[in-house]
Amino acid sequence: MFESLGNKLQDILDRVGKERQLTEAQVKAAMREIRMALLEADVNFGVAKDFVAKVSEKAVGQSVEGSLTAGQTVVKLVHDELIETLGGKTIQPELRSEGNVWFMVGLQGAGKTTSTGKLAAHYKSKGRRVLLVAADTQRPAARDQLEVLAKQVGVPVLKVADGESPAETKRRVDEHLKTDFRDLVIVDTAGRLQIDEALMDQLADLQATMQPTESLLVVDAMTGQEALNVAQTFDQRVNVTGLIITKMDGDARGGAALSARSVTGKPIYFAGTSEKIAGLDAFHPDRVAGRILG
Ligand code: GDP
Repeated sequence: MFESLGNKLQDILDRVGKERQLTEAQVKAAMREIRMALLEADVNFGVAKDFVAKVSEKAVGQSVEGSLTAGQTVVKLVHDELIETLGGKTIQPELRSEGNVWFMVGLQGAGKTTSTGKLAAHYKSKGRRVLLVAADTQRPAARDQLEVLAKQVGVPVLKVADGESPAETKRRVDEHLKTDFRDLVIVDTAGRLQIDEALMDQLADLQATMQPTESLLVVDAMTGQEALNVAQTFDQRVNVTGLIITKMDGDARGGAALSARSVTGKPIYFAGTSEKIAGLDAFHPDRVAGRILG
């Protein structure tokens, strides 16, 4: 595991003394390499710095177990801490027996609409009755895209009209539910290429009106350093309850996941693993920790 990093550290930390404990100098040298590895994986600079400081504290004086080298000991410590920071274990959103309303939020292109379709398929296969709401009041193309996905999955979709008010959208959803019982309503909200105030105000309005039980922020793994900014801004304005990291099938090593999770403290529920409807996996902190270390 983590051959290259392990070897590099082994060269630096060749010897442990008779006490078989990591010294401060060794930890310092190792952490330079760890910080580099994190930055190469596109972890935000500040997040990497804080992470390294936390691990350093634990590492100094740590005993090196019988069969392990000093390098392996450090790698294990870092790996364990990464898993912890990424959430420890796989977590899934809680579902009530009915009345679940989930908002999908994020920048345009992050994979919101695709992930909405994926979630619909996933929960339909678990016996949930899903209704999709295409709530992008500005872009008819985005609504059409969700309609195509809804057909593919075999769930109903309610499309908002251009410029429709949040109150009207809520009224139409409530109306729909009176004649067609659905226990999970997933609302695909409008995205912008960049965070802007108008988008945030509009989202906050819709959220105040519809009172979602979850607001899931969709973050593109390829956005690297920018992921921290996006996660922080959305969380401050619309109180994110969980994260979905998309495009984990690409080259990205997963630094965006660590940054978004660290800055919001919110659980990462799912990872997008392809463009297809089935390309949604539960998020596994251990696998992503391994990938970040390279
Ligand atoms: P939205 O603007 O946030 O709704 O983004 P879309 O859902 O339209 O996705 C933008 C692009 O990313 C599309 O070409 C999707 O097929 C692609 N995409 C979304 N999720 C994934 C993923 O997990 N893996 C890959 N490879 N592509 C994805």
